[in-house]
Amino acid sequence: MKVFKFGGASVNSVDRVKNTGNILKQYQGEKLLVVISAMGKTTNALESVVEAFYANRKDDALALFEQVKQQHLTTAKYLLVTHYLACEQQLRDFFTEVEWMLHDKPVREFDYYYDQVVCVGELLSTSIVSHYLNETGVPNKWLDVRDIFRTDDNFRDATIDWEYTSAQIDDAVKPVFTTGNMVLTQGYIGSTDENESTTLGREGSDYTAAVFANILDAESLTIWKDVESVMNADPRRFPDAVPLPELNYNEVIEMAYYGAQVIHPKTIKPLQNKSIPLYVKCFLDPLLAGTIIHNQPVKQLPPVIVLKEKQVMLQLNSKDFSFVGEHHVGLLYHLFEKIKIKPNLTQNGAISFVCVVDDQGEKTERLALEAASIFDTKVMKELSLLTIRHYTGDHLEKLIAGRTVLLKQQTPDTVQVLLG
Ligand code: ASP
Ligand code: MG
Repeated sequence: MKVFKFGGASVNSVDRVKNTGNILKQYQGEKLLVVISAMGKTTNALESVVEAFYANRKDDALALFEQVKQQHLTTAKYLLVTHYLACEQQLRDFFTEVEWMLHDKPVREFDYYYDQVVCVGELLSTSIVSHYLNETGVPNKWLDVRDIFRTDDNFRDATIDWEYTSAQIDDAVKPVFTTGNMVLTQGYIGSTDENESTTLGREGSDYTAAVFANILDAESLTIWKDVESVMNADPRRFPDAVPLPELNYNEVIEMAYYGAQVIHPKTIKPLQNKSIPLYVKCFLDPLLAGTIIHNQPVKQLPPVIVLKEKQVMLQLNSKDFSFVGEHHVGLLYHLFEKIKIKPNLTQNGAISFVCVVDDQGEKTERLALEAASIFDTKVMKELSLLTIRHYTGDHLEKLIAGRTVLLKQQTPDTVQVLLG
């Protein structure tokens, strides 16, 4: 059995859905579990719906949702003939679920409503693709992953209940493969024991696919993307970026940790635990080799470059010239945990502590405000954090030429510089 994951860009137009269908046709003899994301930028559009709803702008919320509805109905109309009515009925059931809620007034926390609305993106897209495949001779069974993936109620960043989820996969997914070859379902979403929808964090479909691969003991996971392969840098920023044909789990975890937007950081662990190889392939040209990620050591990687923009530096000095010790650092880490903000870089001196975080607007302001009750706090915004793994001196010099270096941290493997 193989697990495939197709991202939003692979289904963002009628032609792209057809292309995805053509790829899946090639694998018809095999057992496949396929996870497909919401179409294109649907998740962002649904975020705007919830924001309007939560700001008590009900009419805006409904109007914004209407756009999402029309886009999906139009796509379904272009793709389907014999299966159109059945598909439309399925889509309308999901529309009703959301609209019913949008007519209410918000009384619970924002994150709860976020998950109830945003989860619909994956449900709509997979319904359309499933009907399209069935209509074009690629038989598959659509499953609502919320009946399978049980999570806690930490909305927007829910944690999977592995035991329950494994049992559900045994009961509801494995039997499908005794009569058919393909299960088509969603990533990124789940549900609580009270049947409330949850999400696993943006871009979480990769992670769902990896969990499926783990529990199903899949022979491999393939993530289909619109890029040729994993690259050593973002080609939009670094024109001489090169493809990385081979990586190991460790390197990918490090790259994701430093902010490379290759694969969702949680994806690797479920694969590593069972030594399941991960292929990153290009859906625009399936003949390209792509990248294979496995457990073996990989020699001679080129410098791997990650640039994070919109960084904020908080410089915290003790108010009374006392040392910044375990006590202070402990307080700060509690604060990070409470506000749910992850420092990208920290440095501790005698009477100061510096941390660099993503600018997350209100959250970052709250962090600075709360830190200011303990420390003299200085904030600098609009900075860039450059990380290079397997760096060479020359390379670093070239990349930071003409920039102000505010902070530098270096190990034999990795160098990080904060640039003004
Ligand atoms: N549709 C969700 C997102 O855009 C999840 C995913 O695609 O992985 O974040
Ligand atoms: Mg995606």
